[in-house]
Amino acid sequence: MSEIPQTASYDVKVKGPEAGDDILAMSCDEIARVMEESGQKRFRGRQIYEWLHIRHAGSFDDMTNLPKALRQELAGRFHIPALREEEVLTSRIDGTRKFLFALDDGNVIESVLMRYSYGLTACISSQAGCRMGCRFCASTIGGRVRDLSAGEMIRQVTRMSEAAGERIGHVVIMGSGEPLDNYDNLVRFLRIMGDPEGECLSLRDITVSTCGIVPDIYRLAGEGLPVTLALSLHAPSQEKRERLMPIAKKYPLGEVMEAMKAYYEKTGRRITFEYSCVDGENTSPRDAAMLADLVRGMNCHINLIPVNPVEERPYRRPERPRIEAFRGMLEKRGISVTIRREMGRDINGACGQLRHRYLDGRL
Ligand code: SAH
Repeated sequence: MSEIPQTASYDVKVKGPEAGDDILAMSCDEIARVMEESGQKRFRGRQIYEWLHIRHAGSFDDMTNLPKALRQELAGRFHIPALREEEVLTSRIDGTRKFLFALDDGNVIESVLMRYSYGLTACISSQAGCRMGCRFCASTIGGRVRDLSAGEMIRQVTRMSEAAGERIGHVVIMGSGEPLDNYDNLVRFLRIMGDPEGECLSLRDITVSTCGIVPDIYRLAGEGLPVTLALSLHAPSQEKRERLMPIAKKYPLGEVMEAMKAYYEKTGRRITFEYSCVDGENTSPRDAAMLADLVRGMNCHINLIPVNPVEERPYRRPERPRIEAFRGMLEKRGISVTIRREMGRDINGACGQLRHRYLDGRL
């Protein structure tokens, strides 16, 4: 990924304390091992893990069944990421909530909580900012500032669950950032979220969305994690895709499609393709025919997303009838396709726009 320049990042507003290791990112076994190595009983590991992932303790002081000296030792060595609610916008239409969370070092990230018929879905960020440079996306405007730790990803889910007073049943990693560009933290996040003795979310109910980093798609396929993989496709040809997504130059369409097929073959998980509909770019009858040819024979679903206009970018969404016609053309060719229902229309800044406005002092 080194060819992609890291564009200027924002200065953080508040400097946080020098953080220790993110203990939320550690498995129960890893914590138990650290306990043993420091002369403690192994069962302390499970106690700590349960405080973190079942009771969602915010500090070591909350862990009242641990000796005080141990709590102090833990606090000196480890860090429990906290997310401070900087701003919450609630949709009057469907109750969708957008959270702007401040991290301990002052960076801010966005997360969204949506209610569907099957329960609550959390949309979380994987990085502060992003360096993939997709033309229509607000998250990429200031570049990538930093990767999020696994604990910072977990806490987005648990904080929103606390705010809702309800369990979250589905997680989509479709907020700011490219999850496969933060691979190790992503995999840690997935393993901990899926642990039946901790957060206990079915991995089948987690979707990882990627712009198509080919080697990491193969790597993820081999992790034994049955998550759904969504590819941000957005165009049916290499030429058009490159125009919208610079990453396509590095990982050409043919290679990305092969990798997605391999992901399906290895995991048995149906593939999702995201396709942002952009006026004048990718919704012609010819685009529909090419798209149908591209995915023919794959066990997949296409999600059409009317593009969210971003002030700094010239892209607009096509008229609704045009998107519906595009869907019709795909359906006629036997493709499973939906137009993504827009959640929180009234608070609907595009991905990363809330954070972007905040950083610009416009919030
Ligand atoms: N980096 C990951 C996750 C990012 S966001 C990825 O590329 O998949 C999740 C989806 O929202 C992606 O498909 C992304 O391309 C899309 N998206 C970003 N900005 C958008 C906008 N302004 N309008 C519509 N979709 C957008």
